[in-house]
Amino acid sequence: MAEVQTWKCTTCDADFKSGHWKGCGGDAEVEHRVAPKTYYNLSDGGLPTALKVNNISPLRQTVNAKGMTVTIPGKKAQFLNGTFTTDDPEIQFNMEKRGFTMTAEQFREAQESDKEKAGHAKAELQEERTLRHKAERELAELKAAKSKAKAAA
Ligand SMILES: [Zn+2]
Repeated sequence: MAEVQTWKCTTCDADFKSGHWKGCGGDAEVEHRVAPKTYYNLSDGGLPTALKVNNISPLRQTVNAKGMTVTIPGKKAQFLNGTFTTDDPEIQFNMEKRGFTMTAEQFREAQESDKEKAGHAKAELQEERTLRHKAERELAELKAAKSKAKAAA
């Protein structure tokens, strides 16, 4: 059995276990907060995403003060430039469960290797241009020499 994770609230200083997201400062309706954590996401092509993850926590139905049933949408995560930061332990817990485990270092390395690839492609293009210019110059010289030879004949 997996070890039950214990969290430390940064608001009320209490220790609490996964699933017990509310009860901050003794108020049953207030959620605990924890140290912010950043998640990273890259597309299949290695680009930072603007991925939106819906319903991280389940939809909830509650009865409001007027006796009406209200549906509270699940929490969501919105990545921007491949990063998403939250101090909500319920979201953190579920992001990890859903496999968002890329570290800052992996994220940076993936982007650097992308830049490197782009750099190599640029260098190759430059080399190709240089070679083409050289070939064109040689051809022009050859033509010039030919026409000179003709004129001399
Ligand atoms: Zn708390």
